[in-house]
Amino acid sequence: MQREEILRWLRTDDPARQADGWRRADEVRRAHVGDAVHVRGLVEWSNHCRRACLYCGIRAERADLARYRLTDDEVLACARRAVGLGYGSLVLQAGEDPALTRARVAAVVRRIKRETPLAVTLSLGERDDADTAAWREAGADRYLLRFETSDRALYARLHPAWGAAPSDRPAQLRRLRAQGYEIGGGMMVGLPGQTFETLADDLLLCRALDLDMIGVGPYLPDPHTPLGVDPTAFSAPGADAPKADARTTLTVLALARLLCPDANLPSTTALGVVDPDTGRADGLASGANVVMPNLTPAGVRALYAIYPAKASWRETAEAADATLAALLAASGRTMGHGPGGRGGGSD
Ligand code: SAH
Repeated sequence: MQREEILRWLRTDDPARQADGWRRADEVRRAHVGDAVHVRGLVEWSNHCRRACLYCGIRAERADLARYRLTDDEVLACARRAVGLGYGSLVLQAGEDPALTRARVAAVVRRIKRETPLAVTLSLGERDDADTAAWREAGADRYLLRFETSDRALYARLHPAWGAAPSDRPAQLRRLRAQGYEIGGGMMVGLPGQTFETLADDLLLCRALDLDMIGVGPYLPDPHTPLGVDPTAFSAPGADAPKADARTTLTVLALARLLCPDANLPSTTALGVVDPDTGRADGLASGANVVMPNLTPAGVRALYAIYPAKASWRETAEAADATLAALLAASGRTMGHGPGGRGGGSD
């Protein structure tokens, strides 16, 4: 698919044409990765973060947020719960937290790999190559690092570098691939300053990087962040900017499926926030084949506040699991067992 055609899909506001794109993606999804929905249990390990991303509610400068970090045993308990619920893989996500040292993360990954059959995805931000190499060595299977936007100038404004290290997530994803990880990237839809052209380039970048996983979610303004307070302060508002709504997100998801037919695509929590009733089911019907129920202990879950009003804030892991079962039943899909690597893995 060429850039022009992608742009036409993105720009259309004809509901019939949009629905046609979602349906086509659903067919390609079925043909390439089947009906199994892979379940990744999400563990939000820590909300400490050294960075200052202008969109993110756990940025370092945010003073009013209580910070937490799960103990290693708490992370292991989440892993055992994932096994008990029949999930095949675990995502360990956190702010960019220096207390999650190379040795500590490696030790936790090693324990999970020794004590469970789970595939392990890390999503711990931009860490040194020596860190990620050690974690791969410890058994981590995948690394998730959204590039957020392919517009380098916009990225630099919204995602300030930390210290002297330049921030180049596409380059880092290539290095992670070379270290032997399956790699996950992706972007936010409707970021202030984003244009339809940017979004088309985001999709083309997903294809150029040959991503194994692509995370796409709407941008959700958070009043505790500079971008949430004043979206126009950092970029001139575009005349025809993509909306951060469910329909646009579904179209981006569908295009990701058409461009990268074998990738794993989650129906994201953020999509469930902009459309609490049918967002996640619509995602599964528009190209997605992965869901990520939250396994973070309920007591701290509200503190992992990357954006406001996450759908799952008050749910226990068991309640989230019941919601998940209902979602799969309503979508006519089955739960994938096993690690669910690219191209299906085991069912
Ligand atoms: N520290 C890790 C994990 C960040 S949270 C990292 O930087 O990779 C995971 C994702 O949430 C981010 O990559 C970003 O795409 C998304 N996110 C952050 N703030 C958001 C917001 N306000 N609205 C929507 N998505 C957001």
